[in-house]
Amino acid sequence: VYSEAEAYNATYRIIKVIERINEQNLNAHISLKLTQIGLDINSEICKQNLMHILAKANEAHIFINIDMEDYGHIQSSWQIIDDCEQVFNNFGTVIQASLLRAKKDQREHKHFRLRIVKGAYKENEKVAYQTSKEIDINYLELCKSHLQEGKFTSIATHDYELITKLIRYIERNGNSKSNFEFQMLYGFRTNLQQQLAQQGYQVCVYMPYGKDWYGYFMRRLAERPQNINLIIKQSLSKFWLKGRL
Ligand SMILES: Cc1cc2nc3c(=O)[nH]c(=O)nc-3n(C[C@H](O)[C@H](O)[C@H](O)COP(=O)(O)OP(=O)(O)OC[C@H]3O[C@@H](n4cnc5c(N)ncnc54)[C@H](O)[C@@H]3O)c2cc1C
Repeated sequence: VYSEAEAYNATYRIIKVIERINEQNLNAHISLKLTQIGLDINSEICKQNLMHILAKANEAHIFINIDMEDYGHIQSSWQIIDDCEQVFNNFGTVIQASLLRAKKDQREHKHFRLRIVKGAYKENEKVAYQTSKEIDINYLELCKSHLQEGKFTSIATHDYELITKLIRYIERNGNSKSNFEFQMLYGFRTNLQQQLAQQGYQVCVYMPYGKDWYGYFMRRLAERPQNINLIIKQSLSKFWLKGRL
């Protein structure tokens, strides 16, 4: 989003979703990206739009999650998040385990509700781990450390091995199930989502919404080319359904 009007329009649409969640009394919250509401135009516009969203969400008792984007946006995102924290506390954000700065950011924001992810953006070796082994080790350490803090932790991964290790850790430590959740993307590993929910864990599904789907779609394809199968299967079943209706 590169114009003020587009950023304002995105803000308006997010507020409409807040209103609908409230009206329908849904167990749902909203994730947004700061570039969606003006970060690439200027920080002040972005902050004003975010404040507006947080105020509406606060009235409706709805939680907002601020997604983390590529490294070039990280510092300005933290600045806005820290400024908004002076006024609101109904929001949380994301720590990307692939980043060398992840532990420092987590330590400085240990009082936040945090979602821990591996990181969706390809970054260079000056700022990010380059091997999956290093990222996985960091991922586990970040989750354990945030769980230990007792602040709500969203464990956002489809990686069965990491999930299994964390469940073992949680069981050993007696962390309350109300203090963390698993998060996965809509349509990914649905069986695992259901299995975890049946075991009594909270599972939150991240569902992309809106017309500007292309960037999101390409990121999902880049990290796992097999995801094309998912898209084809879903498009075919929609096409098939339409034909039958
Ligand atoms: C809820 C949520 C929110 C996110 N928010 C952010 C964010 O704000 N910022 C950001 O940078 N990134 C975000 N991400 C993306 C994240 O950083 C990763 O890029 C993405 O989750 C893929 O990593 P993974 O942890 O699933 O592990 P991967 O290493 O990609 O996958 C681990 C294993 O999971 C299995 N797997 C993965 N997908 C499938 C599938 N479709 N079917 C079957 N098996 C599969 C495979 O066995 C694979 O080896 C988010 C992810 C989620 C789930």
